[in-house]
Amino acid sequence: MVKIGVLALQGAVREHVNSLIAPGVEVVVVKKIEQLNDLDGLVLPGGESTTMRRLIDKYGFFEPLKAFAKAGKPMFGTCAGLILMAKQLVGQKDGHLEVIDMEVERNAFGRQRESFEAELMVKGIADDIMAVFIRAPLIKAVGEDVEILSKYKGEIVAVRQNQFLACSFHPELTADARFHQYFVDVVKETKSKCLNV
Ligand code: GLN
Repeated sequence: MVKIGVLALQGAVREHVNSLIAPGVEVVVVKKIEQLNDLDGLVLPGGESTTMRRLIDKYGFFEPLKAFAKAGKPMFGTCAGLILMAKQLVGQKDGHLEVIDMEVERNAFGRQRESFEAELMVKGIADDIMAVFIRAPLIKAVGEDVEILSKYKGEIVAVRQNQFLACSFHPELTADARFHQYFVDVVKETKSKCLNV
C-alpha cells in the first residue's frame, strides 16, 4: 500500500484524487503540513502558480515541501505544479521549490491557443495520451539528469528527473489515468527501494 497526497491549497484537487484511485493506493487531500509526514508521494495540481505560492507561504508549507523533495519522496506537478517544481523561471530571479533542473516559461503558448488539446506520445506510458493545455507553461531547457518524456511541436511538455515528474498539461482532466498510474509506479518503486536499504 502507498499513500499519495494531493496538495489542496488551490486548483484542480478533486480531479487528481479521482485519477489516483487505484488498488494499493490510499489518496489523501493535503491541507495541513503534518499530513506530509506519512506520505510516500505528492501531487502538486494545476491552478495558478503565483496564488499557489502565496498560499504555500501563508500556511507554512514552503520548507516542509522542500524537505519532502530533499528526502527523496516522489512528486508530480501538473501545469502550475510544474512551475512550482522548476529550478528556473524565465523573467524571474528565483524558482519556487526548485526540484527539477529545468527552465520554464509561464503562459508560453500565447493568446489564441490559451487552451487546446493534443494527442501526445509520452515516453514509457503510451503514444496516444490526450493532453489538455490551459494557459500552459513550456519547458525551455533541461539539465542533463532530466529525461524528456514528451514534446508537442518540438517543445518539451513532460519530464522526469529521478522520482520527480512534471507535465505542462492536465492529465487529471481526462478519463485516462495512465499518467497517474505511471506516477503511482514511481512511488511504489521508490518506496520499495527505501525499504530495501
Ligand atoms: N498559467 C498558470 C500559472 O502560471 C498555470 C495554468 C494552469 O495550471 N492551468 O500558474
